[in-house]
Amino acid sequence: MHKLFNYRFGSCVKRHFSVSGKLHKDVPSYKVAIIGTGPAGFYTAHHLFAKANAFRLHIDFLEKLPAPFGLSRYGVAPDHPEVKNCDEYLINIMKNQSDPSKNSLNHGINFFGNIDVGKDVTLKELQQNYHSIVLSYGTDTDNDLKIPGAELEGVFPARQFVNWYNSHPDYSSPTNFKPPPLEKVENATIIGNGNVALDIARILLADPKSYWSPTDIHTEAFEKLENSSVKNVNIVARRGLLESAFTNKEIRELFEISKAEGIQFLPIEESIFKSVEPFENSLGRADKRKLALLKKYSPKQLSEGYGKSWSLKFLLSPLEIKKNEQDEELVSATVFQVNQLTHDSLTGSTNIKPVEGETVVIKNELVISSIGYKGAQLPGFEELGILFDSKNNRLANIGGRILSFPHEKTHGHSYKRGWYTSGWIQSGPKGVIATTMMKAFDTAENLIEDLKNGIHTSASPDSLDNFHAKLYEKQAVSWTGWSKLDEHEIAEGLKRGKSRYKESITEEMLKIANK
Ligand code: FAD
Ligand code: NAP
Repeated sequence: MHKLFNYRFGSCVKRHFSVSGKLHKDVPSYKVAIIGTGPAGFYTAHHLFAKANAFRLHIDFLEKLPAPFGLSRYGVAPDHPEVKNCDEYLINIMKNQSDPSKNSLNHGINFFGNIDVGKDVTLKELQQNYHSIVLSYGTDTDNDLKIPGAELEGVFPARQFVNWYNSHPDYSSPTNFKPPPLEKVENATIIGNGNVALDIARILLADPKSYWSPTDIHTEAFEKLENSSVKNVNIVARRGLLESAFTNKEIRELFEISKAEGIQFLPIEESIFKSVEPFENSLGRADKRKLALLKKYSPKQLSEGYGKSWSLKFLLSPLEIKKNEQDEELVSATVFQVNQLTHDSLTGSTNIKPVEGETVVIKNELVISSIGYKGAQLPGFEELGILFDSKNNRLANIGGRILSFPHEKTHGHSYKRGWYTSGWIQSGPKGVIATTMMKAFDTAENLIEDLKNGIHTSASPDSLDNFHAKLYEKQAVSWTGWSKLDEHEIAEGLKRGKSRYKESITEEMLKIANK
């Protein structure tokens, strides 16, 4: 272990460094950059500070958007404010590191919002300035539905729809995004049955005034919902009932809202229940519960004179989305291939195969493809030799240590020295915030172990002042700037009877943050 902050690269250059500018004689200091301030980014930072008891850390968060929190702010549905409590981790990190009583090692922390890494600053610059870099930039790309008609105006990837109702600045209408014409839609189809599909179904079905109005939902989305003519929502999965991607808590929530608001859940087809009968006795607890829930809520008969309705459909793979000849903003129908379940008795796995020649046509004017998100590379990976695992939508890594082209071999693997990853870009776009947290802790643990063993980049020993100046030249939003925006949004929300009024136009956000 170094007693002082010694850079021991190349020709044994020795220098003592402190991010606060003071000379610290007893503990080594390291500079860490975390890219992205979603749950992965802030949980990584939390754990790094918790574990860095033998050295001083200076962590800089670089965040593309003027506001922090990633999908906690721009993904989690507006009616799940309790989920957003995880944001407290970041808020506390920012608060505690500036409180000497809670920061005896004099750790440092900065937030730089509105900095698009790969564009405003290069990865090479990060490598030159920081000892360790953690890529936690999430998976902010659409997973494409590759069927004819997917490109039509009336088809929306879930990510875009979600970003829009959550006031994401890249989807602020009318400049960046043309919202779905809900006032002209009667039937909506959601392809995929994960929890995002259920979020979207709640958005389309629950009463705008009583249910959505008090939340922080985008005001324009709220107005669109108020004028919506959506009557029926079909959630369509390509596999069977037991293979559903939604979780029991979330499907129960949708059933309960439907019950409370008089929204009709249409019966699940009897053949679907029949297809799982042979396995009922061997099901695990969660699957037993899932089946019981779906049986309980699938009605024997329809309520009289119901307004809105929704359904769960299974064993249907989308084949084609049909154009609407009368209105190009809408579509007219989706054609699905009918599937059947196949069971491999050797492996115990269940798959699907198409029933030859059997298709189903569902009438719909709007289609939302909720088939998951996708990870993308940042500019500069190639140059630095950072490996991206395109097949699995994530950075190639082991335990959060990024793998590189085979020239930096350690323990039989080619690691990219000093480079780490956490969150969805580490493991692919699946998992709730709790899973993201656990994995981020593992990454932090490995980063700390590497620092203890002197493994980091050969970053310049200079202070970060020049680099920070460059970030501010790029209109970086500081934590103080974000706090102003935060206060503004809460105050504006109060005036409107909402938990928060989210600003959605970047220029406006920057203006408020820089006041
Ligand atoms: P993200 O949250 O996406 O954070 C990535 C951050 O990196 C973002 O702030 C982004 O702006 C930033 N970034 C991107 N590119 C750059 C760049 N070039 N430079 C700098 N910064 C960059 N989980 C639950 O437990 N409960 C829920 O109710 C729930 N709801 C969800 C709803 C939706 C629609 C989705 C998609 C997911 C939901 N999840 C939920 C899952 C949860 O959101 C994820 O587990 C978690 O957000 C993943 O965290 P992350 O930090 O890896 O990614
Ligand atoms: P997901 O859970 O992976 O579900 C994706 C759905 O799309 C699945 O039904 C999948 O079917 C289907 N699909 C994928 N490709 C398809 C294709 N080409 N054609 C037809 N269907 C296709 O993804 P998600 O709903 O985006 O959620 C992502 C993660 O966030 C999940 O872990 C989820 O639990 C979490 N999340 C949690 C909450 C919450 O806790 N309240 C809310 C939202 C999201 P197959 O299964 O057949 O592949």
